[in-house]
Amino acid sequence: MKKYLLPESGTFYKANLHCHSTYSDGRWTPEEIKKAYMRQGYSIVAYTDHNVLIPHHELTDENFLAILGTEIDIDEDVKRWVHTRCAHWCILAIDPENDIQPCWHREKYQLQNAVLHRDEVKFDESEPDYERVYSIECINDMMKTAMDKGFFVTYNHPTWSLEGFETYSKFKYMHAMEIYNHSAYYEGYDDHNSKEYDELLRLGNRIYAIAADDNHNRGAYDSFGGYTMIKADKLEYRTVMQALLDGNFYASEGGPDIHELYYEDGKVYVTFDAAREAFISKDVRRSQRVWRDGQLITSAVFDVREDEDYFRITIVGEDGKRSYTNAYFIDEIMK
Ligand SMILES: [Zn+2]
Ligand SMILES: [Zn+2]
Repeated sequence: MKKYLLPESGTFYKANLHCHSTYSDGRWTPEEIKKAYMRQGYSIVAYTDHNVLIPHHELTDENFLAILGTEIDIDEDVKRWVHTRCAHWCILAIDPENDIQPCWHREKYQLQNAVLHRDEVKFDESEPDYERVYSIECINDMMKTAMDKGFFVTYNHPTWSLEGFETYSKFKYMHAMEIYNHSAYYEGYDDHNSKEYDELLRLGNRIYAIAADDNHNRGAYDSFGGYTMIKADKLEYRTVMQALLDGNFYASEGGPDIHELYYEDGKVYVTFDAAREAFISKDVRRSQRVWRDGQLITSAVFDVREDEDYFRITIVGEDGKRSYTNAYFIDEIMK
């Protein structure tokens, strides 16, 4: 029986799920970001200014959705900045009314303009100031607290952060990770994190992959490069967040658009805009690549078997840019 892995019905909405505005260290106002992204065909932006959870719901209209979020960071040692490891993750409110920032500190951790907006942040006044420490325990505690309090958690740019397997393999509370971060790429980092994603999947983590700009617009061309295509029935806050929770999306760095993705009788079928090649990655040593020498392809079929844990598919455009499906788990598909 045919089983759609990306929903058969609905509309793909182009989303940037990680960005910075004048509310922290970005150069564009939230309104300017909306205008610029809508001109490029985006319908969704998650506003994730550093360490301040501030809604911009007034920007939402029938053609644009502003998601409420913030990027949390913990730095190992700010005095040795270029050597230091960091952990950064975004938290996106699953409910638009969920504007209470978890793990708040009344005085610390706000970056640049975020200090000016500190008083706009709502928090639980009965809780003491939350002190951050760069440790597995603290990072897991903050990520778990965000998850428990109704946020979608994405782990960001491990390459830029100088975090290795020994560290990120211990982070246990994320819905997704960035398989591509465009701003880090523009700064010279190879923040294509396919290998990191496979490593986390092989440890048994059932997580998704997003791509995002992480734009600051301070001169670098860090907008419109990494995005997530979310398939949902309508452009409405809770509907779109449910699509994220359900994994109804794929990630792209400007690679070919993916149209259909479904499973039927031991095979996965995928259709897409003209591409140079497509390949499948798995937990086991049984990958496949589809290409036609010198010609472009618009579809591919791959085998999957019951003794495998997961697979995910990457589509490569003529220019080398990639689109990435989420990982899909055999026991969920074949049941
Ligand atoms: Zn970051
Ligand atoms: Zn960021």
